[in-house]
Amino acid sequence: MSAEGEVDMKVDPSRAKALSSAISSVTQRIEAVAGGRNVRLVAVSKLKPASDILALYQESKQLHFGENYAQELMEKAAVLPRDIRWHFIGGLQSNKCKPLTSTIPNLFLVSSVDSQKKATQLDKGRAELSSSQPSTSSITLGPLNIHIQINTSGEESKSGVTPGPEATSLARHILTSCPHLNLLGLMTIGAIARSKAAKEGEENEDFIALRGERDRLEGELGDELKGRRLELSMGMSDDFEGAIGMGSDEVRVGSTVFGERPAKEDFKVKRQVEAGKE
Ligand SMILES: *Cc1c(COP(=O)(O)O)cnc(C)c1O
Repeated sequence: MSAEGEVDMKVDPSRAKALSSAISSVTQRIEAVAGGRNVRLVAVSKLKPASDILALYQESKQLHFGENYAQELMEKAAVLPRDIRWHFIGGLQSNKCKPLTSTIPNLFLVSSVDSQKKATQLDKGRAELSSSQPSTSSITLGPLNIHIQINTSGEESKSGVTPGPEATSLARHILTSCPHLNLLGLMTIGAIARSKAAKEGEENEDFIALRGERDRLEGELGDELKGRRLELSMGMSDDFEGAIGMGSDEVRVGSTVFGERPAKEDFKVKRQVEAGKE
């Protein structure tokens, strides 16, 4: 490894082999349904050890990793290669927005933006980071990519904005008042019941809703988008092939790559990093 600032971490060869074979099987499944389109695979590494991420980075040249918890992401980003492209995909707390964007230069995308206040905080953090970059730094910091999270299922337990005027005004806010953010597209998680129904031959209603909302927003925003298209992030372990069939540009796959996740309370990045050093 050439990048600066990383700790030595032991990667177990048999674990590395299992991970790399799991991810190449996911990649093949993606290619089989993508029809030549470029679909980004985000390996969702939440609650998995930093050594798993390093293994996929080294063995499979995987660069896109998704995390759900701000603290965990900050700890992992600090010890892993600087050319990893981090995605924050979890529930976003307002008070974590600035710390997240002001400390992680290789944060590539925040996919769970659901309020103007949070967008403003993310923008401020990114601005702070840009102005603190030494002129000698090898990293050129552009605007931070953003997905607006849309609550397509209407479930109260899901975050995200309601399709319609709320989504439009959040998109406008990002486009006009957040110069350090780049509105890349829309993300949905979707209801488990709908994902299950879709497997039995029905089209997934959440995917239909996200695609419809993208078309509506592109129409409504018109020139404000300056010719840009909005991408769709939809599809996880259980339904990513169906999502790609319905136009997804990015799938977020966790357990199919890494195996089942431990309970959150059992996981500590620091302990894993320390154990790896021994
Ligand atoms: C955990 C998570 C995923 C990955 O879920 P799997 O079913 O393990 O693939 C994808 N997206 C979000 C937002 C998540 O929280």
